[in-house]
Amino acid sequence: MPERKAPRTVAVSTLGCKVNQYESQQILQQFRALGFQVVARPEEADVYIVNTCAVTGEASQKSRYALRRGTRGENGPIVVATGCLAHVEKDALFHMPGVTLALGHGEKDRLADEVGAYIRDVLNLPLLPANPEIGCTDVLGREGNPYERTRATLKVQDGCTLKCSYCIIPYSRPGNMLRPAKELFEETRRLVESGYQEVVLTGIRLGAYRNLASLMTGLAAIDGLERIRLSSIDPKDVSDGIIEAAVSCPKVCPHFHLPLQCGDDTVLRAMRRRYTTASFRALADRLRERLPDVSITTDMMAGFPAESEEAFENSFRFAEEMGFAKIHVFRYSPRPGTAAASLPDSVPEPVKAARSKRLIRLSAEMGCRFAESQTGRVLDVLVEEFDPETGVASGLSPNYLRVSFEARTARRGAIVPVRAEKAAGEGIRGSVVENQSQGAEDVRLCFLQDGGEGNRPSDGL
Ligand code: SF4
Repeated sequence: MPERKAPRTVAVSTLGCKVNQYESQQILQQFRALGFQVVARPEEADVYIVNTCAVTGEASQKSRYALRRGTRGENGPIVVATGCLAHVEKDALFHMPGVTLALGHGEKDRLADEVGAYIRDVLNLPLLPANPEIGCTDVLGREGNPYERTRATLKVQDGCTLKCSYCIIPYSRPGNMLRPAKELFEETRRLVESGYQEVVLTGIRLGAYRNLASLMTGLAAIDGLERIRLSSIDPKDVSDGIIEAAVSCPKVCPHFHLPLQCGDDTVLRAMRRRYTTASFRALADRLRERLPDVSITTDMMAGFPAESEEAFENSFRFAEEMGFAKIHVFRYSPRPGTAAASLPDSVPEPVKAARSKRLIRLSAEMGCRFAESQTGRVLDVLVEEFDPETGVASGLSPNYLRVSFEARTARRGAIVPVRAEKAAGEGIRGSVVENQSQGAEDVRLCFLQDGGEGNRPSDGL
């Protein structure tokens, strides 16, 4: 058997939400500080980390599959499970063949040290010389995926205390941890200095961040930061202050991801969601009234126990009326330990599959309609990809449309004004608007109206 070499490379596979993506970047940074090189594929890695997700049965299954991908026998990589599934099913993951360590949320901050100790004390192999130039809290990507240096995730909050009846997250990430504003400002400045123009504010329950509106407008005052996007936010948490911050500050992207889960009030009650279809509709109307080009995207669950045929039809109609730009559809599966797990899983799998298929089809139709509604506009596209062979670049508009256009050259991370010429499926084909300064709607100052959730960029920060 070949002798084992000292580990030098690390890869991470991330499942689930933006918080996990953010935390994976932090984990990689811990390894960089220990002198490791980050590689893209588990096949090339000496240490392979899977940042797991437990939000649905399917996510848990995919997490296990990702772990199995890394196991390659005796001299394969050190396989580490972390994240939500590793937190709630630590023992089970630890005992999976080929998995070396399973570390829950409390151990994530010192994950690289735990792996280092394993290399030194168990494998008896030397560690690499540490790289003192890289701090562990510096999460800037320096290599790896093509979206780096275009959009960065900024985790502002962690944990949820709400206990929706189907959700395991409050058990894996309890509480409400808010990061200090000073730290968030410093991190954003570093991200901007290293080339990012967009930050996505994220949290397990983003809306639990106190004074989110002030944070948004305060960050918008940072020179060089061109876009602030909110990731998924509970409909009940969208305050007037947040809406007004988006209205008065053009740097805030007109895109709201509001997880509806179901468009039937009986089911929403059984899910222990805190809104009704009427209050959701009122919120969507208000957003559209205040932000005419807003895109509203959502998550919907197919086959929750209380979802009768009639409830599903109500839900489908409601989603149609809401005109979402995209629906992320997933099928209900009971998560042990949650309130809904004690209900009979009454919707048969084929029915769940059929409902999910209908919702996916509806999403595609509504996505095309939304794209069509944007034709004729000039959209500021943050370039993510450019293929010099075909001369086609693509990126995202502030309202989250994928826009492609022809260009002689396009720098990843640049913001290019593009006239939306025609809808291409759920995206847009367009052409560059020449002789226009960066962005058609190029007002870069914030003017907040009185009232709302904090009305000065520095309020409460
Ligand atoms: S708001 Fe509900 S669905 Fe979201 S993390 Fe909290 S308990 Fe889960």
